[in-house]
Amino acid sequence: MNINFFMPTKVIMSEECIIKNAELIKEYGVKALIVTGGNSAELSGALSDVITALQNQGISYDIYNRIHSNPSIASVYEGAAYAREIKAEFIIGIGGGSPMDASKAIALLAVQQLKEEELFSGQYGTQALPLILVPTTAGTGSEVTPYSILTNDAKQTKTSISSPLLFPKIAFLDARYTKSLPMSITINTALDALSHAIEGMLSVRSTFVSNALASESIYRITQCLRSLSPSKVLGVEHQLSIDIREKLLCGSMFAGVVIAHTGTTVVHAMGYCLTYFKDVDHGRANGLILPSFLRFIAKHDPEQVKRVLTAMGVASMDEFEALFLRLLGEREQITTKELERYVSIASQAKNRTNSKVVPTKEDIENIYTRSLTIV
Ligand SMILES: [Zn+2]
Repeated sequence: MNINFFMPTKVIMSEECIIKNAELIKEYGVKALIVTGGNSAELSGALSDVITALQNQGISYDIYNRIHSNPSIASVYEGAAYAREIKAEFIIGIGGGSPMDASKAIALLAVQQLKEEELFSGQYGTQALPLILVPTTAGTGSEVTPYSILTNDAKQTKTSISSPLLFPKIAFLDARYTKSLPMSITINTALDALSHAIEGMLSVRSTFVSNALASESIYRITQCLRSLSPSKVLGVEHQLSIDIREKLLCGSMFAGVVIAHTGTTVVHAMGYCLTYFKDVDHGRANGLILPSFLRFIAKHDPEQVKRVLTAMGVASMDEFEALFLRLLGEREQITTKELERYVSIASQAKNRTNSKVVPTKEDIENIYTRSLTIV
């Protein structure tokens, strides 16, 4: 049996975990830069808890809140310049995938003078600022991965910086921060997390340990997905229980640990095109592609797909597809010209060859065609 497992992030999950464990933050210095998006850090209650924890420990801070969805390269250079200007000793990232991924790049660029063309080279020095992450959605798993995924206009897709330097020192998981998320974000982020766990299971780099975590993640998230419905507006009377919120957050973290070891597959590469060109939410993009990708794998290696369905507690591919259809509603339309462009970009992605059954360019075209409406 081969096991090669490395997870250097301390994960603390409980109600009020930041305030209760504030003394752990002190180790990283007396000046923090908090990195957030527009207002989710504030609305979720996470920002106020982080500030209370910092104040309790006598740590001063500044806030950089200019991270948008699918963060740009310019925004992380700007954030890094700000971190240097205020002499930040460490970074605290609060938010969904975008602010957390941007925090990682900022932590790296604050201490390393990398040119834009070197950013995705994989050749980095030996240091980054220490990083603490606080997720406010349950999907990305970024709080436990060594990846920072940024919009790469030169390649017209999203590209990841990958380095062990980007593993956060601490991830604080408090499901209360996800309580006020609208249903659409809850569904899309859950589909992203489920996709991470499933892609991890189908990866050439999967191991006994990553599969155990993937199964656990898939089981928890599927249980929750069954109780979600896109037509349900989450007013006070329909709020999801904290139990479901915790299951989703925990499942998402497990899936993050999985992809930290296995990486993602062509599902993510194909989804990035939908996000880059059509502004489709990242989790939804994966959710649209995943059923057809699984059908493709099933044709060549049905045993692999059976393992995924068993972990989900789903009897057949038809049942799997029906669950996704109910959650996703009407599929996006693309033109044949767009299809051609996406196939070309996705088939050049590094993670195309990461699944045990490797899709050809033609397979990728077929998967897109079955996943979307082509006009
Ligand atoms: Zn993802």
